[in-house]
Amino acid sequence: MIIAVASGKGGTGKTLVTTALALSAGECTYIDLDVEEPNGAIFLKPDIREEIAYTVPVPVIDKDKCTFCGACARACVYHALVVIPISRSTVVFPELCHSCGVCGFVCPVEGAVRETHREIGKIRKGNRGSIQFIEGRLNIGQPSAVPLISGITSNYITGENGRLYLLDSSPGTACPVVETLKNSDYVLLVTEPTPFGLNDLELAVELVRDMGKKAGIIINKDDERQTLIDDFCRRVQLPILLRIPYSLEIQEAYSRGIPLTEVRPVMKTQLKDLMGRITDGRW
Ligand code: SF4
Ligand code: SF4
Repeated sequence: MIIAVASGKGGTGKTLVTTALALSAGECTYIDLDVEEPNGAIFLKPDIREEIAYTVPVPVIDKDKCTFCGACARACVYHALVVIPISRSTVVFPELCHSCGVCGFVCPVEGAVRETHREIGKIRKGNRGSIQFIEGRLNIGQPSAVPLISGITSNYITGENGRLYLLDSSPGTACPVVETLKNSDYVLLVTEPTPFGLNDLELAVELVRDMGKKAGIIINKDDERQTLIDDFCRRVQLPILLRIPYSLEIQEAYSRGIPLTEVRPVMKTQLKDLMGRITDGRW
């Protein structure tokens, strides 16, 4: 079972929830796919045992073989190649390259396009007790988080029978989130009971519905006087699975990297029950 935890915007408590789920589940794999700003490790404090450089293939042009015909540049939809016949140069912009391999395919000269590897980020692996911890960390300046997310999910979600995977997604509704959610069986959307929270939740709900994913809502910083999320969920027929109360104690602990389950141990039972219901297909 793969449960992704997402939110329409940053700072709603997505990592607070995902790490609390992992600590309540015990035996599971927690994967931090918020690769531009991973902070699950702050809460889980895993013992990191391995760090792997994640690379993607990019073309290198052999100037001795290249005829400067321009076929590669014309075929590259990402404009990652420029051919200037007058100065007999073919320039690759690795940051724009999406590693699609089309340039090598269309090049009429054998051996003119070779392949090299460019590091775009790191994958760190470790554990905290029976929780397997995996984290993606995108190198600064990389234009897209998608290749790293895709590399992690395809390599580390093994489909092991009955294993629980908890994916801590990037915030928002852009490509990195789509890449994370497409691998999930269920999406937990974390939100706050404010007009901003509602606006971002509406976008997130639209995305999960477009992707045909089953989803439920978790309200963080819940305030019973604010019913706008409840009204919305009723309207779109989505279940509210958990409410985390508005509490200075929780906010203070969050700012110091203390997991929710340590501040409110009683919530472990609720979180375990929530995962049980999702796994059983009751939600
Ligand atoms: S297609 Fe091949 S030969 Fe033509 S410009 Fe590109 S690398 Fe050079
Ligand atoms: S691999 Fe694809 S994206 Fe990269 S330079 Fe070649 S055609 Fe462009």
